[in-house]
Amino acid sequence: RAAVSVREVTHRYGRGAEEVTALGPLSLEVPAGEFLVLVGPSGCGKSTLLRLIAGFERASSGTVTVGGEPPEPGRRAGVVFQQPRLFPWRTVGDNIGLALRYAGVPRAERAARIGALLERVDLAGVADRRVWQISGGQQQRVAIARALAGERELLLLDEPFAALDALTRERLQEDLRRVGAETGSTSVFVTHSVDEAVFLGTRAVVLSARPGTVALDIPIGLPRT
Ligand code: ADP
Ligand code: ADP
Repeated sequence: RAAVSVREVTHRYGRGAEEVTALGPLSLEVPAGEFLVLVGPSGCGKSTLLRLIAGFERASSGTVTVGGEPPEPGRRAGVVFQQPRLFPWRTVGDNIGLALRYAGVPRAERAARIGALLERVDLAGVADRRVWQISGGQQQRVAIARALAGERELLLLDEPFAALDALTRERLQEDLRRVGAETGSTSVFVTHSVDEAVFLGTRAVVLSARPGTVALDIPIGLPRT
């Protein structure tokens, strides 16, 4: 269980005349166990904020910590972005196996866990295919399975279900809610769907237009069952 702390963070891309302030100054505390839903207009810096929390980028100013420490990519957070970032030349099973290994799942248990995770995202039977051989939608489902694989203490999800069919989306929303309730993991979830926000979230933060700052911060308060 990891709390996320974002203090006085700004983020800029580019230099000189090309410089764009994408985010902040923004401060946000996400207590352990919370399911934070992040919404706001396109370009307000939601993905940037997730990348900073994931440790893929360093903030231009301010500090980000996860569990009191600077975030390190791949350590504590399961991450799903709009573009699946898998190892394309490895098999589907290897990609998930690597996450299980990082999560400390013993080798002997990994094959069964990979099978169960793939079933959950409706991909039973593709474990031995190489990632580049499957479709974009299938790759996104593999990325979701990988994020759920380690029952990570922190989940960072950027519109992970946007490209999926309604049935798969509903199943995965239910999975995600159950994982949150059972493991007490902390989540930050970007979405444009009010239904999804209300179904999943314990709290919603709305960012203003670029550069994003916190415009609204409201508890949703539905019981997580
Ligand atoms: P959102 O996820 O809310 O749509 P982003 O975090 O993707 O917003 O983008 C915030 C702002 O930063 C936008 O103006 C976007 O064009 C800009 N931006 C994002 N990534 C880059 C980048 N790699 N280089 C330059 N500008 C970027
Ligand atoms: P261990 O020796 O700890 O049992 P392995 O080295 O066999 O683990 O790897 C565990 C999982 O991680 C396997 O699914 C493997 O394919 C995957 N893996 C290992 N190294 C890499 C890598 N560099 N890139 C992608 N996947 C990897």
